[in-house]
Amino acid sequence: MRIPLRAGPLLADLFRKRLPGQVVIQITDRCNASCPQCGMRASEKFSRSKLPLEHVKRILDSAAEKGVQVVSFTGGEPFLFPDELIEMIRYAGEAGIRCIRTGTNGFFLRGGSGEKGRSRIARIAESLAATRLRNLWISLDSAVPSVHERMRGLPGVVEGIEWALPIFHSYGIYPAVNLGINRHIGGESAADACRSPLETLEQERAFSEFFKEAFRRYYRFAIDLGFTMVNACYPMSVDVDRSANDLNAVYAATSADDVVRFTRKEKALLFEALMEVIPEFRHKIRIFSPRVSLLALHREYSHDESRAAYPCRGGVDFFFVDSRDGNTYPCGYRGCENMGRFWDLDRGGSAAEASCTLCDWECFRDPSELAGPLLQGASNPRSLWKKARCDQEYFRVWTQDLKYYRACDFFDGRKPPNSHRLARFNRPASIYR
Ligand code: SF4
Ligand code: SF4
Repeated sequence: MRIPLRAGPLLADLFRKRLPGQVVIQITDRCNASCPQCGMRASEKFSRSKLPLEHVKRILDSAAEKGVQVVSFTGGEPFLFPDELIEMIRYAGEAGIRCIRTGTNGFFLRGGSGEKGRSRIARIAESLAATRLRNLWISLDSAVPSVHERMRGLPGVVEGIEWALPIFHSYGIYPAVNLGINRHIGGESAADACRSPLETLEQERAFSEFFKEAFRRYYRFAIDLGFTMVNACYPMSVDVDRSANDLNAVYAATSADDVVRFTRKEKALLFEALMEVIPEFRHKIRIFSPRVSLLALHREYSHDESRAAYPCRGGVDFFFVDSRDGNTYPCGYRGCENMGRFWDLDRGGSAAEASCTLCDWECFRDPSELAGPLLQGASNPRSLWKKARCDQEYFRVWTQDLKYYRACDFFDGRKPPNSHRLARFNRPASIYR
């Protein structure tokens, strides 16, 4: 059954104090990579799972009926099952889901310089192009190819990505590079510079400068490879700070490895560093990460509780379906709250109050932060007005983000970048402070 697209779905949802729904469906926890930052790496011994196609289709039908606008197919490695994945994407589009996303570690792009490799990539690109897929993410953890390939256990993958990008572009697919923030972004050999105890202002400054330079290097490298869009996944270590006590991850994309484990103080500096570097590159590559989210996280980790972040919509408007039991959870990290089958979920009534800020999962935190003022304005315009007057920095950054999102066609990965519109963001970084 085809669900007709509704006019102005965002406005309609806002007045119901809701956001257009988002479902992240983990279609498998099988993976062929060796990432130290992830509990699903191939070397981990646990019983692996995969959702049956019919189960996923039933979720998609129900999602479309419930007004869900965004569906992401995640893993593990989704492209281990390319035919089923493409069928799921096709089905989601036919069901009326507007924004369909998936990602890969890029294993099938290796060998892209050879004729056989190129035609394999072209076949997949052509099949994807025939669907309504909106975004394809390709992981890249470091600006240094050998470091990324060693971490992932995928030799030759960076060269493969470079060969694959023009092929995808020729089919009208503009993949986004996906950075999982870690200590090796700028290269392994330099990583010691970011491990000081941060006991002095000097050490804090050095840490901050180290990451600013690493982010710059990363963005330059992504542009040189041919990417036109970039996202950053915030570090999801499980055993530090508050996360240790309150979260029980169903989604195994977490790790206690030092490469992704940061203290609160480090996170505060990390988010601030990324926030400062983004304006230098916004006109060169479409950067998905909203600065307002980084500002909110920076404040959160700086103990600036007087200016709290907007709570996450996980479990209210956004959901996660786990590949092991096929059930729904508020997100990948609140594993104690099994909400049952997605098609049995009641999204019709008024929204439960969102209140969670337990982790930094950008999939849910970024859109929650971006939409937070809109929701507040729809339900209580006076309180929004008051907040805007008291916290001008926040609202300046938020407004800039909205303008930038518009200039980037809301990160439609089926459109090339509009260099004319992006050029408006070629401004001195000081404007953003
Ligand atoms: S991060 Fe992705 S590619 Fe790496 S082990 Fe985990 S699921 Fe596999
Ligand atoms: S902040 Fe969002 S993603 Fe994180 S634990 Fe809470 S609901 Fe889940």
